[in-house]
Amino acid sequence: MLSNSEISEAIKSMAAGKNPCDSALAAIVSSSDYDGELASCADSVRRKVYSDEVYLRGLIEISSYCRNNCFYCGLRAGNAKALRYRLSKDEILTACKEGCELGFRTFVLQGGEDPYFSDSFICDVVSSIKRLYPDCAVTLSIGEREYSSYKALFDAGADRYLLRHETADDAHYRKLHPESMSLQNRKECLFALKEIGYQVGSGFMVGSPYQTVENIVSDIRFLQELSPDMIGIGPFIPHRNTPFGSFSCGSADLTIRLISILRLLFPYALIPATTSLATIAEENRKKALISGANVIMPNLTPLKVRKKYEIYNRKLSSSLESAQAVESIKAMLADIGYRAVSSRGDVKR
Ligand code: SAM
Ligand code: SF4
Repeated sequence: MLSNSEISEAIKSMAAGKNPCDSALAAIVSSSDYDGELASCADSVRRKVYSDEVYLRGLIEISSYCRNNCFYCGLRAGNAKALRYRLSKDEILTACKEGCELGFRTFVLQGGEDPYFSDSFICDVVSSIKRLYPDCAVTLSIGEREYSSYKALFDAGADRYLLRHETADDAHYRKLHPESMSLQNRKECLFALKEIGYQVGSGFMVGSPYQTVENIVSDIRFLQELSPDMIGIGPFIPHRNTPFGSFSCGSADLTIRLISILRLLFPYALIPATTSLATIAEENRKKALISGANVIMPNLTPLKVRKKYEIYNRKLSSSLESAQAVESIKAMLADIGYRAVSSRGDVKR
């Protein structure tokens, strides 16, 4: 057990760029007593690297079909009640056009692992976006694919790839996924993406069923090994039509504490204030931003299908989640001392 002064010292040395030992990290993760101190250290670190800038990403949810069966996700193939759709190339380009007019310079194309999305389809979409909007970045988040597929998508112009590792612990991974999925493959995909040249994002859910503090420490250690450009974490939120439908939500306070810890350990990282955090309570978005987060991802998905992309129940789909509310988002940011930036918002490493 670490004493209070030892924990405080560990936070100060983390803010000075030192790597805490596992027991210090576990103690900081487990206590809410230092949240104010962590948040203010994290904010000063983020201001040194990113000033008061917050980057906006236009999120386009391109398909709610998925061949996988992650136990936590409402899009899982086994959810017969899920409403399915996939966007056409034209619909994706129309969303980008609207996003560009609203001032977005990054589009995040996210979806389930939809077998319909062949390399040639996605390459065509990506190269069309890059041709029409050459000053914009394209981020993909469409799950695990072959090395050759990641390479083809990169060569077509994709700049970034988001693939959360979900949990870095094998035994925990097995509790969250069916036998057909493997943590080893997930990790290999992440290292392949890095090798190819993508700006890579990873991360994990906070409070996923059976998660322990030791699992969270392993997640942080895995991120240190991967050294990603982007780190996305958000609380687990149950979906009633999944095997985890009766579990509780992850803690928003713990998620925000972890955002601060991640900011101290990864000063350069692009860290979003996620939708799941704001779904638990709207004020969490601001709390995440003043505690180290520097990205928000408003939704650009066509309104007629937006509600069908139901990863978890109660997912926010209006107000500040919506790309169309960009002026309100800017006002909210100004209100808490930050500035929305209309640029690609690349990592500053
Ligand atoms: N299929 C791709 C993948 O799995 O990487 C991208 C889409 S997936 C819906 C995006 C992220 O949603 C996952 O990485 C996971 O962390 C998160 N997610 C899934 N189910 C969730 C839940 N019930 N609560 C919170 N986040 C969840
Ligand atoms: Fe599919 Fe991703 Fe959901 Fe897993 S988390 S079921 S891969 S959409």
